Amino acid sequence: MTAPAAGELVLRNARLLDGSRADVLITGGLVAAVGPGLAVAAATPCVDLSGDLLLGAFVEPHLHLDKVFTADRGWSDGSLRGAMTSYQRLLAAPTPDVIGRARHGVAALVRNGVTTARVHIGCGRLAGTRFVEAIATVREQAAALIDLQIVAHLGGPAADQHWHSHTRLLRDALDAGADVVGGNPSLEAEPEAALDALLDVAVDRGVPIDLHLDETMDPSVFLLRRLAEQAPDSIPVTASHCVSLGQHPGSVVDEVAELLARKSIRVVTLPATNLYLQRAGSRTGGLPPLDRLLAAGVEVAAGGDNVQDPFNPTGRLDPLDTAGLLTLAAGLDAAQAIRLVTDAGRRVMDRPSAGPVAGSVADLVALRTPEAGSPLAAAGAGRRVWRRGRLVAETRCTVTGPVAAWSAQTRQQRSEEARRP
Ligand SMILES: [Zn+2]
Repeated sequence: MTAPAAGELVLRNARLLDGSRADVLITGGLVAAVGPGLAVAAATPCVDLSGDLLLGAFVEPHLHLDKVFTADRGWSDGSLRGAMTSYQRLLAAPTPDVIGRARHGVAALVRNGVTTARVHIGCGRLAGTRFVEAIATVREQAAALIDLQIVAHLGGPAADQHWHSHTRLLRDALDAGADVVGGNPSLEAEPEAALDALLDVAVDRGVPIDLHLDETMDPSVFLLRRLAEQAPDSIPVTASHCVSLGQHPGSVVDEVAELLARKSIRVVTLPATNLYLQRAGSRTGGLPPLDRLLAAGVEVAAGGDNVQDPFNPTGRLDPLDTAGLLTLAAGLDAAQAIRLVTDAGRRVMDRPSAGPVAGSVADLVALRTPEAGSPLAAAGAGRRVWRRGRLVAETRCTVTGPVAAWSAQTRQQRSEEARRP
């Protein structure tokens, strides 16, 4: 047997999502082979996963990293408008405060198994490009841990200013380090002018666009159809939220879904925030009709959006929480829900696939979860996270006290029962 190649690692006894057991050989940041009992050089570094569930690392395709951990700075009334008023106060946050909260956010993401994230960062008349610059600094500091993609989330112009001159701020934000054009045209005074101006900048600069769209239960707010009709083929286009789509008849939903699929427009659903802000009067719990979008072949990913801020006072930056909400609110099974927080997110961000599949990027997360338990129940248990084959986080859960002896006794009894003929 030859010596192991540099950067080679073998993960033994992984449990895969289909229930099978396999070893995973990693070389040069990629998965080189997957199978039972892989033969490797004796000196190859080895980690025994002992049946832990091994998945592609999680993706967070939509997060407001400049707003995290601010829920204690001003309570909102649980409405989108109330949260936005509350948010105005955050625009005065000093840059070190923004960087400090974002760094805590990155740590939580990586611990939870996220190695790729798209973050929507506010810019505009009041904040300028200050927050984008702050998060670009964090992106550089965290480059070994996580791949951060920055969306410049542009607020609206002054009443006397036209959208096309206002987007100068967006071009400044792209120059300051943003990768993607963003904004919330549905909430602007001139929604169609806003949408068109944002699209123009993205096309002109040749960068992706990811817009907050139709975050309301009012079906008359329906910019998604205009985006689907006007989206150019030359850049990747993503529509986030798309809440009002769920208020339209099935025939309209299917027609729009077919157009989205045909033009490869991606949809990101944000269950936590929209269950919180749009729950009242909802037929679909504030989510777009995911079943019809998926059936039409639309690329759908799911994100956490807001975490402990005026738009959502809860959240732990854990995609398993998002996956659990998809199951509760939209009826997705565990495998479907996990797909929306792993590989679907990578496709939305145009990143190569990752996971325990030969040829994929070796961004992986191993979850300690009971053999018969749902992977969605693994939140709170131990996790190990690899980025490009390098361990970047290991979280262990230790239980002490009388219940530890109780649990050990229960495991012993169950393994004895399992061995009985
Ligand atoms: Zn958002």
